[in-house]
Amino acid sequence: MTLRHVVIIGSGPAGYTAAIYLSRAGLRPVMVTGALTPGGQLVNTTEVENYPGFPDGILGPDLMDAMKAQAEKFGTEFIPSDVESVVELPSTSDLDTDLDTDADGTSHGKPTFRLTLDTGEELDARAVIVATGSTYRKLGVPGEEKYSGHGVSYCATCDGFFFRNKPIVVVGGGDSAFEEALYLTRFGSSVTLIHRRGEFRASAIMVERARANEKLTLLADTVVTAIHGGVPAATPSASDASTVSAPAPGGLKLNLGGPAGGLSLGDGNAIGGGLSLPLAVPTAGEVTGIDIRNTVTGETGTLTTSAVFVAIGHTPATGFLGGLVDKDGDGYVLVDGAGTCTSHPGVFAAGDCVDRVYRQAISAAGMGCRAALDAQAYLA
Ligand code: NAP
Repeated sequence: MTLRHVVIIGSGPAGYTAAIYLSRAGLRPVMVTGALTPGGQLVNTTEVENYPGFPDGILGPDLMDAMKAQAEKFGTEFIPSDVESVVELPSTSDLDTDLDTDADGTSHGKPTFRLTLDTGEELDARAVIVATGSTYRKLGVPGEEKYSGHGVSYCATCDGFFFRNKPIVVVGGGDSAFEEALYLTRFGSSVTLIHRRGEFRASAIMVERARANEKLTLLADTVVTAIHGGVPAATPSASDASTVSAPAPGGLKLNLGGPAGGLSLGDGNAIGGGLSLPLAVPTAGEVTGIDIRNTVTGETGTLTTSAVFVAIGHTPATGFLGGLVDKDGDGYVLVDGAGTCTSHPGVFAAGDCVDRVYRQAISAAGMGCRAALDAQAYLA
């Protein structure tokens, strides 16, 4: 088997940037791009307006195509598969060892990593760059998967536009949920942010902004238990969205089962119990409403909405690494400060699988550059 200098796992901005640097340095990197969604999260984005060098913006897929073309031009090889495991081999005796020794026969003594792909193919490399990004955390409730792309979304900037003048729900209590909810008030007739606890994880300023926004309602101590769909009987409008006998803030239609009382609102208000309005009759198609439950009282109810934006954090795509490198409790790969070296010499990591804070295309690309330079120094 041919021993490669370096394999890059993942094809987002971090991976492509590492590939551009390593291929320009003559190291002939191999990139395992992912079997289903090469290009990372930007492939699901529309206009990218904050990537430097594009004053008129650029479409996410076009940006990723350009990065790929640049890496290809300098000799990166692409394999459209998923990596299932990475292990360090005990010895290199069964390998083509042309990378292992200098012309004078001096051994570099570097370990070799074996990557197993979902196709069963194996790749051996002297260094590995992990740039696998992260995936949106899912709610895991009935209807979520079925209506994904039909009212269930994980990206307000991608999909908010489709819900102009319609009621929108955002789930989550962190900065992402608040940022998305505030952004979505530009489009929706109302936006309801639903959070499972009474305290918000988001920064105080975001919560203040949300409270000051008349279109936004905070529904705390509440979980979504199911998402329903169908073809709405009529397109909801801002005016017909507030026809309950005790109008709820934000123009919600609520149908609270159980005893009088009410789901608690984040601003300390309560909605009177016993309201009953039917959801649109489901036939097929798109989100029409959700089931909710108050986590304090146990009271259940339904809420009419055309969209559910899930913003409950991300899960780094690092499970395939097993115990090869140190990770934090959430699975993010730990690196040495501003560098990209992991706990395992020869394995480097960059982008959203490391970074739980910035998560930007440009910050991932910058980290991909650092990973390439770190790997080059390691291999030298
Ligand atoms: P996060 O801070 O981890 O918040 C995730 C939220 O989702 C939490 O409120 C959590 O509830 C809730 N949650 C998790 N699993 C859930 C489930 N199964 N069902 C219901 N709710 C669930 O994630 P994030 O908001 O994506 O933010 C990530 C990082 O990026 C943070 O450091 C954040 O400050 C940063 N960020 C900053 C900005 C900004 O400054 N403009 C914008 C976006 C993100 P609990 O609170 O109960 O755990």
